[in-house]
Amino acid sequence: MSLLSLKNLSIDYQVRGRLLHVVEQVNLSFASGSFTAIIGESGCGKTTLMSAVLGTLANNSRVSPQAEVIFKGQQVLALSKEAQRLYRWKSVSMVFQAAQNALSPTLTIGEQLCDSLFDHRSISKTGALEIAAERLREVRLSPERIFPAYPHQLSGGMRQRVMIAMAMILQPDLMLLDEPTTALDVITQRYIFDILKDLHQQGQTMILITHDLASAQELADTVVVMYGGQIMEQAPAQGFFSGPRHPYSEGLLNALPRVKDGPSEHTAIPGHPPDLAHKPSGCIFHPRCALAEARCRTETPVLKGTSWRVACHVREGI
Ligand code: SF4
Repeated sequence: MSLLSLKNLSIDYQVRGRLLHVVEQVNLSFASGSFTAIIGESGCGKTTLMSAVLGTLANNSRVSPQAEVIFKGQQVLALSKEAQRLYRWKSVSMVFQAAQNALSPTLTIGEQLCDSLFDHRSISKTGALEIAAERLREVRLSPERIFPAYPHQLSGGMRQRVMIAMAMILQPDLMLLDEPTTALDVITQRYIFDILKDLHQQGQTMILITHDLASAQELADTVVVMYGGQIMEQAPAQGFFSGPRHPYSEGLLNALPRVKDGPSEHTAIPGHPPDLAHKPSGCIFHPRCALAEARCRTETPVLKGTSWRVACHVREGI
């Protein structure tokens, strides 16, 4: 069953007199218990998409009138400010990239975890501390050690685990992860991957947004590829990493350096991502695509397929 559906979602930003089409005609569904990775280069629209899900779009954004963000049957875009505040953290929570910036430097971790509970529930201090301790143990941290600590007294990996505990504090139906391990060393990354896998195995629905294909491959069961604000491909992760269908996805994987390869074994995609104020006609990827045909310059391909969807005139979905 679908927990979250995005329908006809387009989002523009007005920036210094330019109208940027950051997200265009996105239609996606996320099933309960799924782990989806949304991948693509910086500026492809993945963070804006998640801001729409979280209800935190910037003031200079404009959502298309026909857009729908439906979470458990409710239209998120139509919620009042107060209803959106309750929906955030309780229904959908977010783990941000830089835990140091997301945590208050002047409050202890114990105070910050309990405050999140007090903000959404009528609960005693003892009850809040018990729940906070349970969440910290789930991310393999000792409550006795962590409760009295301030963020600066913890390592980057510990802070990120605190962020995950905080995102889990109200046991939300959906957790969004924005590059949760980018700033961490590989050993700590592995530790956090294991925690996220455990949570997923316990039934937690998650959406990871990342440009790190290795973390998507390690964690996700479904991959969504974005380019210039549009969905290029949506595929089962297992098949995707051994044989992507869309030429852009293929280029992304070919551009990935592998430790076992020599220096010349990976190739970058030629050209640059599109100008979001003046997107190419037809297929948005056509100026960079080696397979482009005449119709690619004039006809916009639609996402086709059932279990594996691809937006391309040449490559088909399944
Ligand atoms: Fe390339 Fe044409 Fe497919 Fe676009 S539609 S990805 S230009 S082959």
